[in-house]
Amino acid sequence: MSTTNNPADTHASVRQIHHFIDGQYRASERWFDKRSPINHALIAQVAQASRADVDAAVRAARAALSGPWGQLSVAQRVDLLYAVADGINRRFDDFLQAEVADTGKPMSLARHIDIPRGAANFKIFADVVKNVPGEYFEMTTPDGAGAINYAMRRPVGVVGVVCPWNLPLLLMTWKVGPALACGNTVVVKPSEETPQTAALLGEVMNAAGIPRGVYNVVHGFGPDSAGEFLTTHAGVNAITFTGETRTGAAIMKAAADGARPVSLEMGGKNAAIVFADCDFDAAIEGTLRSCFVNCGQVCLGTERVYVERPLFERFVAALKEGAERLRPGHPEAADTSIGPLISQEHRNKVLAYYRKAAELGATVVTGGGVPQMPDDLRNGAWIQPTIWIGLGDDSPIAREEIFGPCTLIMPFDTEAEAIARTNDNLYGLSTAIWTNNLARAHRVAAAIEVGIAWVNSWFLRDLRTAFGGAKQSGIGREGGVHSLEFYTELKNVCVKL
Ligand code: NAD
Repeated sequence: MSTTNNPADTHASVRQIHHFIDGQYRASERWFDKRSPINHALIAQVAQASRADVDAAVRAARAALSGPWGQLSVAQRVDLLYAVADGINRRFDDFLQAEVADTGKPMSLARHIDIPRGAANFKIFADVVKNVPGEYFEMTTPDGAGAINYAMRRPVGVVGVVCPWNLPLLLMTWKVGPALACGNTVVVKPSEETPQTAALLGEVMNAAGIPRGVYNVVHGFGPDSAGEFLTTHAGVNAITFTGETRTGAAIMKAAADGARPVSLEMGGKNAAIVFADCDFDAAIEGTLRSCFVNCGQVCLGTERVYVERPLFERFVAALKEGAERLRPGHPEAADTSIGPLISQEHRNKVLAYYRKAAELGATVVTGGGVPQMPDDLRNGAWIQPTIWIGLGDDSPIAREEIFGPCTLIMPFDTEAEAIARTNDNLYGLSTAIWTNNLARAHRVAAAIEVGIAWVNSWFLRDLRTAFGGAKQSGIGREGGVHSLEFYTELKNVCVKL
């Protein structure tokens, strides 16, 4: 079955979320349930892609490369991407509802971060592509006539886009925006937990006049499902992925077949380093956000905090007070400041770490369990914001990514020690440094092994800058012109004069 209208709009008792292939919504033979994180209610049935569905999407994407899309000038593509961004903003409330239904996150958060950034990602990369300068070299030749070289950027082709559930629209468009700006076509595999905004974007693509086959969406799971079918498909020229490091490694293996390039944005175990000379209130406010926003489900979030010893007790007390002010509740309620985890399954994983911390002898400063919720929310994946002290860097709590609203605070004595302990981890995504000593800020930022170092801030993003992880947190950089390295082939033309 295929239709140009999104069946999710029909007012059936349980909505159906379809694939979006070749400009049309398509059902599947198999379906899976999408449940609400706030109360475990069934909110949608989602089409589950077969190998044939994925193949149809990849073939549509390939055909679109040599269709009208492939003939467009950069200026025409830029106009279309602006129309997509405007289309998201026009449908702002629909995207907001869909994202909040899938994730359970507070409306206030999705309204300020997820949806505006989802739209902005199309404009920023349209601007990058419009303004990026080219490369030109003159060379001498033995006959004295010389030669010139210039570089041109060409799309890599069909890009497979595999996404996580924590910031679904934002992280998906962070890849689709530059991929399309560079003239590629995409097949997106959203997380099985968050299928709705990717599907809804199909409507916006059609309304904006993006030719059919340029943007495709297939739903399903990872192994032996849509994720694997897409990443192993020989018709996919490049794969961009955000998610867990273990999944990234599996995708890298799949991409080795055919020697296809990958861009991997993966897990983290991010530190904050708080020096005694910091602006205390700013450090507390920033660390509260970095530990607990989005219920701790942010790849850049802080799960270990190193605090200079003279400040330690005051810092722990203030962070505890801030954590205890967070209010779980209905996403629409104005006073809700923390949502649930994405699923019961993820809560089981995070609670296992809560239990492990207690077994290892951690002092639970606050939280450590499940909050009391009203009857209508009782079955949701709610969890308490949690702070521990009393464990060292060797504990799994300090080493492994938990991806929940929890953090371990540890004292340190010297700058060199803080740097060494921050670096003593397999991951290297981001670190927040809190200090009023300018020289120290630059010194520490240079010495830590991460892709992103923040000084006296967190999550402050200029989308023109490089984004990505060091060590096991990532391969490659996206953002601004850096995205062009992945989403284009740079071709050199050498002309003998
Ligand atoms: P995940 O790795 O479980 O899943 C991500 C996506 O990969 C999903 O769409 C999933 O279906 C798919 N997938 C799973 N196995 C696959 C396979 N074998 N082949 C192909 N696709 C497969 O990650 P998640 O739980 O959705 O997201 C949380 C993780 O994402 C955390 O580790 C977090 O740190 C990371 N993350 C990183 C960044 C970053 O920018 N570095 C941003 C957000 C999230």
